[in-house]
Amino acid sequence: MSFITLDTKAYRYNLSCIAAKAGGYDKLICVFKDNAYGHGANLLAPITRACGVNFVAVKNESEAYQLEEHFDNILILSHRPTGEENPKFIYALNEPSTLTQFKKNTRIHLKIDTNMHRNGVNLENLEKLLKELGCLNLEGAFTHFMAADELDASYFAQKRNFQKAKETIRNATRKTLLFHSFNSSALFRGQMPQDELCRVGLVQFGYGDGSLKKVLKLYAQKLSSRELKKGQGIGYGGTYVADRSLKVATYDLGYADGLFRYNGKGQLKLANGKELLGKMSMDSFSCEDSGEEICVFNDANLWAEFFHTINYEILVKLHPSIKRILI
Ligand SMILES: *Cc1c(COP(=O)(O)O)cnc(C)c1O
Repeated sequence: MSFITLDTKAYRYNLSCIAAKAGGYDKLICVFKDNAYGHGANLLAPITRACGVNFVAVKNESEAYQLEEHFDNILILSHRPTGEENPKFIYALNEPSTLTQFKKNTRIHLKIDTNMHRNGVNLENLEKLLKELGCLNLEGAFTHFMAADELDASYFAQKRNFQKAKETIRNATRKTLLFHSFNSSALFRGQMPQDELCRVGLVQFGYGDGSLKKVLKLYAQKLSSRELKKGQGIGYGGTYVADRSLKVATYDLGYADGLFRYNGKGQLKLANGKELLGKMSMDSFSCEDSGEEICVFNDANLWAEFFHTINYEILVKLHPSIKRILI
């Protein structure tokens, strides 16, 4: 059976680097959405908590329920109000007009649209919204950068806008609130404001900065092997034709497991340098026989480059049913 290993030492090391940059573990909101970027939220959560992080962000309520035993503070990023919000969770208020649809006393972090134009209240409508919050329990406010990986003019403009929003909110409320704007790339490129938390996703797993260590390795196991004679093809359409006699093996991982489908064209290499041979099947691929198990990748960047996408997408697609093992 194919499997994923999660290197707990590497994960703890990454968290320590991140905490050092952010000013402590209590400054971190670890983003655990989509099964912790495909890694395995349930397995990593106890480690994250033991390191001293007590705040995570997830996509929806079902992800929040999976993690509720581990963390006191769980921010749900993509929620549509139902009137049945759980008093334990914190909900992002993404759409000002839905304010009245939340249950009374719901814990809220206000999303501020500082120029990404994806979600949240803009600066012009902020003061008015703050007056209308009524019986919602405002605990914080946050924004998201559209180009923190480039630190271009838009990043500095958004920073200024968020600073203005913080002042407006502080003037309007007497409570001490939590503010956060930095994500992974902002933390490793910019200077984090002292009065903020930061939301870190990808860097936890060793991507985005050369100083960090990759946490995930993906393995497949051998189903069968055979001798391919010169001139024989392999897989659907026989797109790969052997130019010499070759011992090939079929391994138990395919596009149904969340891999991008290799169509037999171009050189897609496994971690040991061997190439995939022929088109990938739904549940398997073939390559030169490399023993009982093979590491498919330990660096999602190689697959991301090949498929012209970003490492996030390669990782997050890894099917939750692949067995995860902590090492
Ligand atoms: C996914 C997400 C993050 C984390 O982004 P990274 O680039 O992985 O650090 C932070 N904030 C919000 C709102 C997100 O949706």
